[in-house]
Order: sequence, then C-alpha cells, then structure tokens
Amino acid sequence: MERPLSAVRADRKDPRIPTARVLRALVVMGLLRLGSLNGLDQTRREGGWKSLLGGGLPSARTNGRVMDALDCDGLRHVLRDVYSRRKRNKSLPGFFAGWIALILDGHECCASFLRSCPDCLTRTVRAAKGDRIQYYHRLVAATLLCGSERMLLDCEMQRPGEDEVACAIRLLERVLRQYPRAFQVVVADGLYLRADFFNFVTGRGKEVLAVLKDEQRDLMKDARGLFDRAPQTVLRRGRTDCRCWDIEGFTSWPGLDAPVRVVRSMEHSTVRRQRDGRKEESVAEWIWATNIPQRRLPTEGIVRFGHGRWAVENEGGFNDLVNVWHADHVYKHATNAILAFWLLAMLVFNLFHAFINRNLKPVRRAAHTAKYWAERITADFYQVIGRAQCLAPP
Ligand SMILES: [Zn+2]
Repeated sequence: MERPLSAVRADRKDPRIPTARVLRALVVMGLLRLGSLNGLDQTRREGGWKSLLGGGLPSARTNGRVMDALDCDGLRHVLRDVYSRRKRNKSLPGFFAGWIALILDGHECCASFLRSCPDCLTRTVRAAKGDRIQYYHRLVAATLLCGSERMLLDCEMQRPGEDEVACAIRLLERVLRQYPRAFQVVVADGLYLRADFFNFVTGRGKEVLAVLKDEQRDLMKDARGLFDRAPQTVLRRGRTDCRCWDIEGFTSWPGLDAPVRVVRSMEHSTVRRQRDGRKEESVAEWIWATNIPQRRLPTEGIVRFGHGRWAVENEGGFNDLVNVWHADHVYKHATNAILAFWLLAMLVFNLFHAFINRNLKPVRRAAHTAKYWAERITADFYQVIGRAQCLAPP
C-alpha cells in the first residue's frame, strides 16, 4: 500500500512536508480510531514518529490543509489497489450463489446551523422562534457485499441542486469503470426504484434490486392483487421464518425497458423483550422489485441480497464507520476535505478488516471481538512510537 499512497497528489506549491507523509500519519490516526487531528497532535513529541513516517508528524493544521487540497481520485486508486490484492488472493467470495452485490446508500455526514461552505446543501428547519437555514452535506457510498464481509469501494458527494439518485448514478459510472467485474447486482433502497436508475444499471449489463414500499404505485397495487392467489414458499433466515411470494413479468411500471419481478417476504420471529424477558412475536413485511429472472436467482437470493443492504446500513457499514471509525467527524469544513477524510476512513476500515480476516488464524480471530484487535493494534503502535516508555514506571 506504500507505493499507491506515495502516488497520491495534492494541489500544493513547494510543499515542505510531502503529501505521502501526511497520508501515512492520517492512516495511523484512523487505525488508532482517534477521530481528531488535535488528538493526533498530542503524540507529536514521541520520538518514534520520525522512523515511522520518514520525518516528523505534520501539525493538525497542515494535515487539514493537505486533505482540502488532495486529489481524491488518488485515494480512490489506493482503495482500488487494496481491492485488487484481495481479488488476486481470491479472498472475496460470493455472498449468495457466487454472486457479489454492490450496495448503494445515501448518508448525511454532517449538519450545522452555523458553519457552512459554498458547496453546502441547505434546508429550512421550522422552529418555535421562526424558520432557520440548516447547512449539511450528504454523500452516496458504494459497498461490496461479498462472503461475510463488506468492502467499501468509493463515495461521491451530493451537489447542491441534485438529488441522491443523480449523485449515485455519477458514482456508479465511475465504479463500473474501475470495478467492471467486481459485482453482478446493484442493491438499493426504495428511493432508487426509478425507471431512469433501473434502465441505467441494466443498460450497463448489471442486475438491479430495490425495496418496493410505495403503496400508491401501480406496480405495488398489481403485485398486492396477485399475492393472495400466488403459491408461497417458506424459507428460514437465521431465527426468522419467511413466507415468500415471487411473481415475475409485471409491466405496470411506465418507462421501464423490461418486465419486472416482485418478491414479498412476510417474516415471523420471536424476540425476548429486554424489559421483562418475555417472548414477543414480531412480523415484518419486505417487498423488493428486481429485473433478475427467477431462473437466474431463486427467491432466497432476492431475500438475502435485500437484507444484505439493510445490514450494510446498520451492522457492518455506516454505523461502524460513523461510531467506531469517526467517519462523520468534520476535520475541516470544506467539501474536498470531507470527501478525502471519508475515503480515508473507508481505506482504514478495509485495511483493518482485511487484517483480521486474512492475517489471523480463524480460531484466534473467533476468540476475540473486532474491538479487542483494534485495541491490540493501538497498544502495539504506542509501543513503536515510544509512548509505552513514557508510561512505564521510572
Ligand atoms: Zn459545507
């Protein structure tokens, strides 16, 4: 990874500190989960930085300034390099029936009434004291769902005046160029159930699957009319029983180039209430629309990929990136810096998970949580830069 990281450029005149040194320092900040440039700054006096970075630790101000001037495509190439190594090592297995999915998800990464920049999105928030303008940034991220892992590939900032799907199409155009054979199907939420998006994806030779939840749509009304009469199958997904209906050939979606298939899953599970320990029945309905024919992917595949998107949002994706890897922290309020720090958080997330999934023996890995391994890395690192000596008794 050293070589692609050294190749990343920034728009700087006669820099005294090389960009690669800043990036190496920020990768370390990410791996230590510090979530703060000033937090990293606290370690500047440690003697081990010079041998680790090939020079002293850059200041918090320099780090922020370099990220604002960084060529984000350079960071994307580093992400691509990590993917290529995993691909060469054959360590990216299919998620279901050998298929890998690309999950697209929008995410609001920061919001403020006070701080803004020329690229901020804005909205009016109604409050008791009157309307206020809120400034915020949103991005769309592309994540691979492969085996039991999520691999973060790329993200794109939503521009003022454009909607999330337009931003996602811009992102997808680049992902298709950079990762043409990395996935078979694109999975997204209900917002993406639009003819222009479905036609775009299928026109580029990929399958597409999205949540169907708008009860007013003709497609939904037609599907509901047929579910009662259609045969159902029963699947088991973990501790959940799924009764599924799977019907294809719907043409009640104006503007779509091909007929669509609709899969409905009524999911029954028993959960124990935390409050009093009593068991409670829960029922959830999920409906997805897709262009994938039944002969290519069975009902179970649609249900598994549909829930895979939800898992990226809640279990291993954004929640982890935001809460554990501090991806939403605004290190510097400028759109290029926000994007660069997000791409860097994605890179660190991938490196960490590649390390625990590839470098540790399965028995050893299973004995501990990811948090334990992150703390081990932190402890080892502080030993390298010399902090262990300063904490040791005299
Ligand atoms: Zn802004």
